[in-house]
Parts: sequence; structure tokens; C-alpha cells
Amino acid sequence: MTATVTVCDHPLVQHKLTLMRRKDTSTGAFRRLLGEIGALMAYEVTRDIPTHEVTIETPLQTMQGRQIDGKKLVFVPILRAGTGLMDGFLSVIPGARVGHIGLYRDHATLQAVEYYFKMPKDMPERDAIVLDPMLATGNSAVAAITRLKQTRPRSVRFVCLVACPEGVRTLREAHPDVPIHTAAIDRQLDQRGYILPGLGDAGDRIFGTV
Ligand code: URA
Repeated sequence: MTATVTVCDHPLVQHKLTLMRRKDTSTGAFRRLLGEIGALMAYEVTRDIPTHEVTIETPLQTMQGRQIDGKKLVFVPILRAGTGLMDGFLSVIPGARVGHIGLYRDHATLQAVEYYFKMPKDMPERDAIVLDPMLATGNSAVAAITRLKQTRPRSVRFVCLVACPEGVRTLREAHPDVPIHTAAIDRQLDQRGYILPGLGDAGDRIFGTV
């Protein structure tokens, strides 16, 4: 099995991503745009999640409608930048649960080191959507998903804003069952592990810690 990679090429997503990439975009605008893209990508990423039939009363008649079970979804932002995408996801699926994975990137080795992990219970009944704006080396995503799979979620998918070929390859090799959704696949990774042309350090730009 090889994971699918879906690039969300919707004009609204591409427009907002271009605004985010500009170096003179303010912290406030960057955060707002990331939230908006999160909401738009949530729409695409959840396209095939299960729905169930419910009986409802309209003002005129009884009918069968379909509803998603938001409580069976768990959004898993990788701290800290993943929380910037989470707000947009929660704005369209407010009933979803949220688990957190804290990983930092060791700047010398570029390897991911875990410092926090908290998931809701009943993970085997949940579909997990892992969130991290940048798929760079892929090390954090691989480590986060490896750890997450220990809780046996029903399914896992990965959402980012900007990926690069190296990160996509690393993630697909380690987790070929995990679909990847991104708004862009950029040219390459640089020596320091940044994506080129990219948008800089997503966490610093979201939180204004540059
Ligand atoms: N993380 C970021 O925030 N930006 C990059 O370009 C790579 C990793």
C-alpha cells in the first residue's frame, strides 16, 4: 500500500497560502490565514468520513438526514505549530476531540524528541487527523504517527500546509497507510531543515516569536 498525497489546489487555499508566504505578512494576519486555510482543508480532508442516518422533523415533515459523528474524530496537532491549523478544523467540526503531541526538533540532529502526549480515551473508535503546517524532514510526522499508532486509532491521516519532496518520501516510506493532504509541495529542504521557498518558521510566525 502506498499513501495517497493530495494537494489542495483550491484557489482560496492557494491565495491565502501566497499571502502567508510573504515575509512582510504580520503575525496576526498569518495566524488568521492559517485558521482560514485550516477550515478550508478540513472540508477536503473529511470528504470521505462516515456519516449515519438520523430521523429529524422539518417544520413540514419527518425525514431521514445524514450526520457525521464529530465525537469520533480526533484532531492531533503536533505542538506547537499544529495548533494553528487546529483552530480552523475546530471551527467547522466543533465536536471533535483533540489530542496533543509535543515534539521538538533537535537542531543538531534534526530528529524529533517527544515531551508531551495526551489522547482522548477510546482511540480504537476514532479517526485521527494529525496536524502540522510544515512537512519538512518528515521526522516529526513519522515520530508523531508512530507514537499515535500505539493507541490504535481506527484510521490516521496527515494534514500540512507546505510539504517538500524529502518529507513526503520519508513519511510515505514509514507510514504507507497514512494519506497526506497538503496545500503545496515546495522545491526542497535546505541544510538547516527549512523548506524552500517555504514560509519560514511556522511556529515563530504564528506566535510572533521570531
Ligand atoms: N518547520 C518550519 O516551521 N518551517 C520549515 O521550513 C521547516 C520546518
